[in-house]
Order: sequence, then structure tokens, then C-alpha cells
Amino acid sequence: MPLNDESILNLPFLHIRKCEDRNPVLIEADYTGPVRCPHCESVQLRKKCPFVRRVRHESIGERLVWLILRGYKYLCRGCGRYFRQRFEGLLPYQRATEPFRNEVCQDHHDGICQRQLARRTGLGSATIERWYHRFLTRKMAERKNAPCPRVLGIDEHFFTRKDGYATTFCDLQHHRVYDVVLGRSEAALESYLAKLPDKHRVRVVCIDLSSSYREIVRRHFPRAQIVADRFHVMRLIGHTIHQLWRQLDPVQSRNRGLRSLLRRRADRLEPDQAQNLGRYLQAHPAIEALYCFKQELWELLRRRDSILRLVGRGFGSSWPVSSNSKKPPCPAWSR
Ligand SMILES: [Zn+2]
Repeated sequence: MPLNDESILNLPFLHIRKCEDRNPVLIEADYTGPVRCPHCESVQLRKKCPFVRRVRHESIGERLVWLILRGYKYLCRGCGRYFRQRFEGLLPYQRATEPFRNEVCQDHHDGICQRQLARRTGLGSATIERWYHRFLTRKMAERKNAPCPRVLGIDEHFFTRKDGYATTFCDLQHHRVYDVVLGRSEAALESYLAKLPDKHRVRVVCIDLSSSYREIVRRHFPRAQIVADRFHVMRLIGHTIHQLWRQLDPVQSRNRGLRSLLRRRADRLEPDQAQNLGRYLQAHPAIEALYCFKQELWELLRRRDSILRLVGRGFGSSWPVSSNSKKPPCPAWSR
């Protein structure tokens, strides 16, 4: 694209007449685009007196910019009304262009506080607040019409005591939160899901192992493949193994210290902790086997590439982790 006045100013139909290189930069520009009556869309116009609009425009580096736009007042021959011509990218009665307002709002959105922005741009805090509200409203409207992500993650989390749980919908492909909806049951999410646009786009839904979400996905995303979140799988395995341990050793399984040692990763234990655990496991071979199985399974689930290899092989008979891993997932005493 050739570099012209429009691409420099980031506004259409403007021709730069004069530019004063100082801080703030003063740019005088003329409007060159078509003019229509805002009341009846007529182009049968008579040019009357000129007028000037002095507005803020987006910064050049660290320097502030003022734009001095020259336009004309017109008389419409169609409806007989007078009007001042409009400029694209500048709303009526505003003293700043849309690119400048976007710049300020985006800076605020990225974490620069109102006070600092007000000091830097010479605007009032209330103005920034008002602009930012409008910016958020527009963003929300854009999101409302955003299509449903192709790879969707659904999970619940505790919201407040009064409102209970909320369900978060994530775009896992782009690592973004898509929406948050109050409630976690099928009945609570029904009206939201019924109105969700482009549900047919969803190819994969990643959920925990709860049956209610599974039912929701089957009903609302019939073309999507359900994938169980591996962190939920790991939690479930941990819970099941703990239940088994309680059956095997009802007395010692109540020991909090021992319980904590059994839950931890073997390679993160201190030498004395590993010794204590080793002594206990040597005396209980069944629990030792359980513990080693859990450590190996966790090691496998922690490695993304291993899972992919496993899936690629169609869950073959050979164990991909222990054959390649340099250190055994189980502590040395068991070897
Ligand atoms: Zn008119």
C-alpha cells in the first residue's frame, strides 16, 4: 500500500495541508471525500461558509497530536436544511477522533491507570472513564456476536456464597475466556446454550468427568468430540487410590503426615521423607505397588508429548514413559 496522507493519519478522505513539527504536533487537513445531507442523503447541495474543527488525534510516538480540520457548511436543496459536513472517524460534537479514543481506552485496558493517562494526555479522569465505558460496551457487543470457539473448554468454579457456582467457557485454541455464566447445572445453562451462535463449529469440548456436563455437550454440541481434562483425571485417580489405601490400611491411612507423603511426587521428597515413606512401603507391598502405579501414571499424564504418542499408537501395550525416562518415577528403594 503506498504511503499517503490517509494512511499516515489513519483516517479516510483527508489531505494534509500543513504540519507543525513540535509537541503537540499540529496537523492541518482538508476533507476530500463525498458529502451528503445527513437528513435526507441528498447530494444536491450548495456550499456555504467554511468552518474549522480542532480535535485530538492519535499520538505520534510520545508526542500528542492536534488535528485542525477544515470543512464547509452546506444547504441541502433536497430538504432545505442547513448542516455542517461530517468527517469519517470523528463523531458529531466530539473533540477527539475515534483512533485517539481507542488509543486511550486500549492503554487503560492494558493496565495504565486513569490518573497517569490523564496526566500524559491532558484529559480529565471523568472523560477517560466515560470513554472506557463506551469501549467496554462495544467490546461486549462484539463478543455477543462472536462465533463459538472450535475447541471449547467448559469448567465450573466457585463464584460467591450467594450465587454459588459459575461455569466458564474458554477458547482453548486461542487461550481466551469466551464467557462466564452463572450456575453449573443443565437447567441453569439451558437458556444460555440455546442462544449460543454457531454451535455447529465446535469440534472438541474439553470438560471434567462430571456426567452433567457430558449430557450438556451431547445435547448442544452433537458434532463435538468430548475430551476429559487430564488434571481432572489425575485428581480422580488420586482420590480412588486414596480410597483403596484406606481399605488396605485403615489405621495408618489416617496419619496425616503419611498421607501427605503419599500424595506428593516421589522426586520432590526430601531424603528423610523418602526414607520414612520407603520404610512404610517396604512393610506394605500392596500399597507400594499402588503407589508406584500412581507415580508412573502421573508421570505419563504430566507429559503432553507422551499422551500424544500414546494416543497416536492407539494405547499400545508398551509403556512409553518408563522405557524412555532417565530416572524411574518410583523411589530407588523399590528397585
Ligand atoms: Zn437534505
